[in-house]
Amino acid sequence: MAILTSDLIALNATVASKAEAIATAVDLLVAAGKIDPGYGESMLGREKVANTFLGNGIAIPHGLPKDRELINDTAIAVVQVRDGIDWGNGDTARLIVAIAAKSDEHLTILSNLTDVLGDADEADRLATTDDAGVIVARLTGAEAPAKAPAGEALDDFGSGFDVTIDGAHGLHARPATALVDLAKTFTADIRIRSGDKVANAKSLISLLKLGAGDGTSVHVSAEGADAEKALDAIRAAFEAGLEDEEEAANEAAARPAPATVANYDGRTITGITSSPGMAIAPVFQFARERITFETDADDAALQLEKLDQALHAAHQQLEDLYKEVWKKSGPAKAGIFRAHQEFLEDPEMIEAAHTQIRKGRSAAFAWEQAYNERADILAGMKDPILAGRAVDLRDAGRRVLRLLAEVEKDETRLPQEPCILVADDLTPSDTAQLDPHLVQGLCTASGGPTSHTSIIARSLDIPAVVGMGASVLEIEVGKPAILDGASGVLVIDPSESDRAQARVALIDLRARREIEQRDCYKPALTTDGERIEVVANISDLAEARHAVDAGGEGVGLLRTEFLFVNRDEAPSENEQLDIYTGMLEAMNGLPIIIRTLDVGGDKEMPYLRMPVEDNPFLGERGIRFCLSHEDLFRTQLRAIFRASSKGPLRIMYPMISMLSELEEARRITEEVRLEVGADPVEIGMMIEIPSAVMMAPEFAREVDFFSIGTNDLTQYALAMDRLHPKLAKLADGMHPAVLRLIDRTVRAADEAGIWVGACGGVAADPVGVRVLTGLGVKELSVSIPSIAAVKAQLREQSLEENRDIAARALKAADAAAVRALA
Ligand code: PEP
Ligand code: MG
Repeated sequence: MAILTSDLIALNATVASKAEAIATAVDLLVAAGKIDPGYGESMLGREKVANTFLGNGIAIPHGLPKDRELINDTAIAVVQVRDGIDWGNGDTARLIVAIAAKSDEHLTILSNLTDVLGDADEADRLATTDDAGVIVARLTGAEAPAKAPAGEALDDFGSGFDVTIDGAHGLHARPATALVDLAKTFTADIRIRSGDKVANAKSLISLLKLGAGDGTSVHVSAEGADAEKALDAIRAAFEAGLEDEEEAANEAAARPAPATVANYDGRTITGITSSPGMAIAPVFQFARERITFETDADDAALQLEKLDQALHAAHQQLEDLYKEVWKKSGPAKAGIFRAHQEFLEDPEMIEAAHTQIRKGRSAAFAWEQAYNERADILAGMKDPILAGRAVDLRDAGRRVLRLLAEVEKDETRLPQEPCILVADDLTPSDTAQLDPHLVQGLCTASGGPTSHTSIIARSLDIPAVVGMGASVLEIEVGKPAILDGASGVLVIDPSESDRAQARVALIDLRARREIEQRDCYKPALTTDGERIEVVANISDLAEARHAVDAGGEGVGLLRTEFLFVNRDEAPSENEQLDIYTGMLEAMNGLPIIIRTLDVGGDKEMPYLRMPVEDNPFLGERGIRFCLSHEDLFRTQLRAIFRASSKGPLRIMYPMISMLSELEEARRITEEVRLEVGADPVEIGMMIEIPSAVMMAPEFAREVDFFSIGTNDLTQYALAMDRLHPKLAKLADGMHPAVLRLIDRTVRAADEAGIWVGACGGVAADPVGVRVLTGLGVKELSVSIPSIAAVKAQLREQSLEENRDIAARALKAADAAAVRALA
């Protein structure tokens, strides 16, 4: 069905206000039966939270996602106001493109609008035309642009050749990047024509805009001193396939944050891409609070006591932060705070502070000196990762210092308005104080792609660029700016066309997110019609409710250990019964996989008096602990079986490494079931230890399902502690060694006729989604915020293609090579 037709266009409308302009568009949409009249309110509501002016006289009012029910069919109405109407913030709109989008069909029109936005003459032509057909043709793409967008030319150069693009994805980002890199080595101007679109071969964006798919014939032409050489080289590159997988992978590994190319008129400062996305907001310079204290103190005993108490309190704060972040973002991110605790236990550093105190220094002064001296040494190290840990040591140190000294509260140090926040570097504790609704983007002078600023920005889903150099710290507070996370660029004093470009990118991104959210309740069917179940990882009752709201088709992993934390004793059978029952009720018939207690490793419960282990991850963890604390295990199983009549539940054992453990766990489980008098439930086990993989054929005969714990499977397969500050980054679940273990597991399961799910972190990783499903994993259990995006991704891909990628991934040399495949 056509989205934009002539009857949805009001030419030369006379309106007295922005609200009237919107009302005119709404009238057109209502008359055509596209929306309910109430959607107009929704459009006005949107303007209250975000001005929809794009630039060059164009505004795109659209409703709020919650009111999408009021749309009958996706449609766009255009109101042309030749003299313009005030759209707020000093902007005047002449072409009001009102969008009522039920699905994503309107994105083509948005993309065409982008071209118009970058071209003042073209925007003027549409704002003054007497012919509604001109607007329809231009925005639907039926008519080619009146002239090429700025910076691009229509004519080919004299010499050139034709070539057919050959490759599964056509001229997509990687081959286009290779082409740009090659083209830039010549001084000649080089153009690529596809149909009537012409691209500058030295601009990635321009090449991508060609949309040249597999089998497209393009014409390459060049002009300039080395034009012939350039043409020869480009011809040879096309013949060689333009991309070498292995090389691309190596390059990706060596350059952790490749930036795409973007052209801006405003002054730009470039850094390292650390989190993609786009922000348009004024700059805010973050200032750390001032901490003041006396240098000397003559009561050494009291000062020693104060330091001891502050260290203890800081340790406790970090414990709370660790648990909070663990629940929200998983163990890898939470591990930062464990590392901070380690710093605070450093005996040599504490002793250095004690010595100073005994010499008459105050606890605060002595402590500050001790941690700063050590942080300076770390900062000077050649190894960038170690040097990066200086930030952590200072952060942990300041946490204690704050407890020992006076902290001056300065109102201007934290943003009160939406902003792009600039800092030298941000510590995890700084970030914890920031309001993520106000911080639209993050820039740091120092730091790298593995810094915590990067990790946190990605988890908050805000754009970030790091390592920008000291000049960013000089930017005046309040300066208008754009942060283009994907390009690794901060644009200061952006031009109108820079803003328009950024706004469209933002709108596209939001449209995508909204579509993902709107479709979150639909099943994840791949393009070839295969269904993958997307379920949630949860740890408490509130999350069970959120999981359903977010589109989870059940719970693939209930980490019951979180019901045992922050308490003085284990929850009783009745307490657990209430929780499991509440969860089953919240799930309203959707299944829950309850994993029995998985303590040990990094998950300690003080009241359980767990053994002190030299290697906690190799110690009495998971099922091993439960089998040696049978009372605890039986209590939990009783509660689970008593709740089992309230809804579908399955039981899953963690950390099974040997058949004897499974047999023992099953025997106890069956005894408890009979005691309770409950019906049998499905029993499954985590596959997270290589020995379980090797014995998978035997295990598969004994259980109803497997769930792959990629977090642990990776750490045990690669012998890299999942919390290790340096190694955790390398412990990538996409390593072919881990993938071969998963492949082996799935084949054993298939043979036995049982299904396999995955519940570790890579189940939500875009590459992980492709490879895991390609290997035959049927259910992905992911954190709640990832559910909609994972479902949306699955809907865009075919399982056949994923199988092909997975087959190649198994043969890859390392994780970077696997990541380069998807
Ligand atoms: C895993 O190991 O991948 C897993 C999901 O379990 P946890 O992270 O709770 O150890
Ligand atoms: Mg695990």
